[in-house]
Amino acid sequence: MSIIVIKVGTNVLMDSKDQLSQDVINCYARQSKQLLGAGYAPLFVSSGAVTIGRTAGLKLTDKKTFAAVGQVRLMEAYRKAFVDEGLDVAQLIVSRPDLHRRGLFDAFQRSLTELTEAGIIPIINENDALTNGEPEAFGENDMLAAVVSIVVRAQYLIYLTDQFGLYTQDPREKNGRRHLVCDTTDVAKEFFEYCSHTVSANSMGGMLTKLKGAQLAIAGGVETFIANGKMCVEIDDLLSCRVPATRFYAKREADKITTHERWMLSCKEKSGVIVVDDGAIEAIKKGNTLLAVGVRKVLGEFEHGEIVEIVDSDRHGIGCGIVTMDSRDLELKLDQGSTNDVDVIHRDHLITY
Ligand code: GLU
Repeated sequence: MSIIVIKVGTNVLMDSKDQLSQDVINCYARQSKQLLGAGYAPLFVSSGAVTIGRTAGLKLTDKKTFAAVGQVRLMEAYRKAFVDEGLDVAQLIVSRPDLHRRGLFDAFQRSLTELTEAGIIPIINENDALTNGEPEAFGENDMLAAVVSIVVRAQYLIYLTDQFGLYTQDPREKNGRRHLVCDTTDVAKEFFEYCSHTVSANSMGGMLTKLKGAQLAIAGGVETFIANGKMCVEIDDLLSCRVPATRFYAKREADKITTHERWMLSCKEKSGVIVVDDGAIEAIKKGNTLLAVGVRKVLGEFEHGEIVEIVDSDRHGIGCGIVTMDSRDLELKLDQGSTNDVDVIHRDHLITY
């Protein structure tokens, strides 16, 4: 059974009057039934809770309480749509730090597997009511969807948004060349320059976070699409390339990726990164250990044993892994020039994108 993770953005769910569109959810419920019939197991990562709560007209002011109210209404809409198709849904609310605990990561994987095997449709969101913002939270659902797709060993991840995909220039900027990036095997460095950093009023993500999610997902063996979900795109058409979209091919075969590697890809810290030189990039891409001699500098802070991202001098992600020392010790070694033969991330605990 092939799993498809479908991420539904807030902008896809809300109509022009800022109301939750039951029609959009009905459309994906109908398609879920067809997908199940075709041997796929669909699973949704759905945003919307915060905006639904914010626009509910209640005397609330905080994002956490908006989410608490909005999540119930969001799930009511999903349940109604799926029950009409004869399908059951399940709600899973995730906190980012929970997944860092290997035991809970495994439990999450088992629950999702059991639900999908039973033909039940998991609907996942971040536990926004119990988060205190970055870096502890995902903050938007693009990265959460990438993590979910890696956890469940999905074949496809589909980002449904209000654009047809990634354009060589943000389509909301006037007077520019606009070419849709169609098929690609990499999340190239220049793609990040195409993204506008602005996000729409209701959305917390944007093209940038989708690219970061795609980078992770394709490294985790998941083919990833960015597509326009506003007009009820047919998933079948999308997978057969009959509609415009951006498609990122998976970099690895899913069954060659170990659970340890999946966990590392899913749980990298946001608080610190290691900047490495070109020699180190070449070495780790060949499967070697990251040595201190290849480290240019450390940005932010991390502790020994945490999963830290490795970036190049332009801050483009190269991979991640478990560090053998904390950021202070590494900086000290760099300052002292005592970097020869010091392991920073051992090859067994390192995965490149
Ligand atoms: N978890 C947030 C929500 O449900 C995600 C918001 C977003 O990604 O736009 O509202």
